[in-house]
Amino acid sequence: MLTRHTRHTLAVLVAALTGALLLSTPAVAALMNPTSPVTAPAVVEALSPYLGQVSCDPGAKPGAIALRDILLKTYGGRDLGISRECSRGGRSEHKEGRAYDWGLDAAVPAEKAMADQFLEWLLAPGDDGAPAYNARRLGVMYVVWNRRSWSAYKAAAGWQPYAGPSPHTDHVHLSLSWNGGMKQTSFWTGQAAAVDYGPCRRYVGLPAEAYTKPRTDPSCPAPIALLNLTETPVLAQSANGPYVAQLQHWLGITVDGSFGPMTARALSTFQAANGLPVTARTDEPTWTALRAPRTAATQPTASTQPTASPKAAVTPKPTATPKPTASPKPTAAAKATTTAASPKPTATPKAAAPKPTTKAAPWASGVGSTVLSRFAGLTLRKGATGPAVVALQRALKITPDGAFGPKTAAAVLAFNVARKLPAEPVVRPATWASLARTALPPTSR
Ligand SMILES: [Zn+2]
Repeated sequence: MLTRHTRHTLAVLVAALTGALLLSTPAVAALMNPTSPVTAPAVVEALSPYLGQVSCDPGAKPGAIALRDILLKTYGGRDLGISRECSRGGRSEHKEGRAYDWGLDAAVPAEKAMADQFLEWLLAPGDDGAPAYNARRLGVMYVVWNRRSWSAYKAAAGWQPYAGPSPHTDHVHLSLSWNGGMKQTSFWTGQAAAVDYGPCRRYVGLPAEAYTKPRTDPSCPAPIALLNLTETPVLAQSANGPYVAQLQHWLGITVDGSFGPMTARALSTFQAANGLPVTARTDEPTWTALRAPRTAATQPTASTQPTASPKAAVTPKPTATPKPTASPKPTAAAKATTTAASPKPTATPKAAAPKPTTKAAPWASGVGSTVLSRFAGLTLRKGATGPAVVALQRALKITPDGAFGPKTAAAVLAFNVARKLPAEPVVRPATWASLARTALPPTSR
């Protein structure tokens, strides 16, 4: 009777003699594991922190490609891919090209054995006594396989049950750190790399820009709120960036910062609905209309007087109006919509000023405020430009050149101080509210 060992030796002999590489029994596969092309440094990387997907940059990164190649070459299995489109599913390092799906079937013993063997190799302690030596050297951030997951950043917890939508019984998912993704870890370079934290998100609600270089400082500058952007760039199809994202936000469509056919369609619809020339481009009147407060559009009374109203949304050139002239109509409309909340629109502004019962009330209480209310949600400071600044300057009775420079800053600071608002040259919602109250029509002064 042949011992297992003898049979195995025979099998290897046969393979060698015939020159066939057809033997893929687990016993033979178990002899092999990936080999680093370089000598390991004395001290290798620590376990990776969690560095989740922040950008949309699915092109396969060199470290993911190298890992794919070494797995397929060493063990076999199927290539289920590195890259994934950003529009699909939730957060995933596949969308940054630094995750790999290695196709193996957990129901096929030989394939399950491959995965298990690789993972044992990956997570075995090193000569340094610390766990997951090869995961550290490859920059493996987490693994999902056969209803379980292991995470470098929760290594002490070991394997955990995985309850995600896919049980991962047909592939091993491997997410790499940025160093791992960029092939900068000691497995490939022979030198231990400092943690690379990857790209920073610059705008709230938008993907970070694509990876360009390592970042070793873990902190990012605070991202900018998209709605604080006040310029009025002309955007058309194929434009990208934060203003496109703001446009998409106002259009109520998916915000991805990329101006495609869907954005063009939504913009055309919006322009048509607001009496603007349908250009599918963002001219200044379109921006003004887009940034008009949503509440005004949803208040039925606001739409009952479409004729003479200087409603921002339909005025092709709001800046052409030398002064939000004292048409009594908006006042009437405003009264109608806010009788409950408004203290007394006919009272002198001074008297009315002390404390509005709600934030909404003052917006609706005058011609000037109708104009100003469009910008109620914006924060303006030095450097801002555009129609919001024009409206601000008109309200402050300074030259309306649309550029928030030192003179505007001084006027804003003086206004804020006079109104007992925070003494800063910045226009925040409280400043807008106070400006709106001062902008009551002359008749009510
Ligand atoms: Zn995957």
